[in-house]
Amino acid sequence: MSTFKYIIVGAGAAGLHLTLAMLRQNLLKSNEKLLIIEPGLKKQNDKTWCFWEKEQGNWNQILTKSWNRGRVTAKNEAIDFNLNQYRYKMLNSIDFYEFAKTKIELEPNIHWLKDEVIELSESANGQVEVITKTYTFSSQLVFDSRITKDFFSPNKYYKINQHFKGWFIETENHFFNPERFTMMDFSIKDGQSTSFTYILPISTTKALVEFTYFTPNLVDNHIYDQFLNKYLEHKNAPKYKIISVEQGNIPMTNFPFEQYSTDSIIKIGTAGGWVKASTGYAFKNCERQADHIVRKLLNRQKLTTSSSSKYKHYDKLFLDVLSHQNNFGEMLFYKMYKRNKIETIFKFLDEKSNLLEDFSIISNLTSTPFIKAFGKHILSGFKLK
Ligand SMILES: Cc1cc2nc3c(=O)[nH]c(=O)nc-3n(C[C@H](O)[C@H](O)[C@H](O)COP(=O)(O)OP(=O)(O)OC[C@H]3O[C@@H](n4cnc5c(N)ncnc54)[C@H](O)[C@@H]3O)c2cc1C
Repeated sequence: MSTFKYIIVGAGAAGLHLTLAMLRQNLLKSNEKLLIIEPGLKKQNDKTWCFWEKEQGNWNQILTKSWNRGRVTAKNEAIDFNLNQYRYKMLNSIDFYEFAKTKIELEPNIHWLKDEVIELSESANGQVEVITKTYTFSSQLVFDSRITKDFFSPNKYYKINQHFKGWFIETENHFFNPERFTMMDFSIKDGQSTSFTYILPISTTKALVEFTYFTPNLVDNHIYDQFLNKYLEHKNAPKYKIISVEQGNIPMTNFPFEQYSTDSIIKIGTAGGWVKASTGYAFKNCERQADHIVRKLLNRQKLTTSSSSKYKHYDKLFLDVLSHQNNFGEMLFYKMYKRNKIETIFKFLDEKSNLLEDFSIISNLTSTPFIKAFGKHILSGFKLK
């Protein structure tokens, strides 16, 4: 049985961000070995990651595109915003995987194994046995991207599915404005549900157009196609061909993922609760959490996740509203984007806002569903569950 200083289970966004953070901060000493275990080849573009950050950033050299103008269309009104010092950035997952793999290949003390982890077994002395389909390894610190089964069993936590299907299309004539992305366009919805179209225009003829739901329930596959067709028809899109398809479901939940970590097994990524519950964004948070973990390791401090309970309360209110009054989503986002500066919204969603900014966002969202959720929250003694 080989022993490693660290083992990372899963080379997805979180596992690779963590590896890259270890390399950026020179965590590994020459005698310390890291093992990454991943069943997939990571050779496919399985996700389009978007995130906002200031102009400079770690991924600028591998971005597909970035924008400094955006639009939200809700309540029959187009709300245009300038991102000022921020950029909304688009990164194809294949470019991130290739970037990380190229760096990893240059490191003699990082080993990448194509295998699947079956079980982690922690002994009383804190040593963890990592059992894969073919081998058993040992380490004192394992980072695990596998989502606990408990999450998928019925439980008392809020769960909104951010489920979507996107067509990457090419039109015959100029149609898109490549200078401005569309965060949300509610002009075509599925009934009264919180559903909208998201558009990432790469050029005047190419864009990723996604029909997205924030709902407790899922829909059949053909329904997304129906709404994508309907949206493009509604916008009088010229003739187009579908180049590729992206589909996914991101959990928006207050499930206590962090409780599944121990001193020796740290859950990371979606499995560690790194997906922002009220937005489904995780890419940038994976980068932040990975940096935070590595800083703690360098300073020999106990590993904790860097998330404030203040934001968990805000997220819970938001999930409550979407769970019980899903038809309110359009109005909620209308108020959010109409009444707040985009920089304040980004700071709030990045969990970096001050109390005054929190107050401004929350008071601008004030409405019966929010007041009801807030009342319930007070009655339950501000419990996060
Ligand atoms: C289609 C899609 C688009 C998204 N777009 C955005 C976006 O635009 N912006 C954003 O911020 N977030 C986005 N997200 C959300 C989030 O960023 C991603 O889900 C992100 O990939 C989560 O990182 P992760 O490491 O937890 O999971 P993953 O990236 O899925 O990685 C988990 C890894 O673990 C491996 N694994 C699983 N089981 C085992 C096992 N038993 N043994 C070993 N390895 C195992 C898997 O093969 C996988 O490689 C998107 C999600 C999806 C699904």
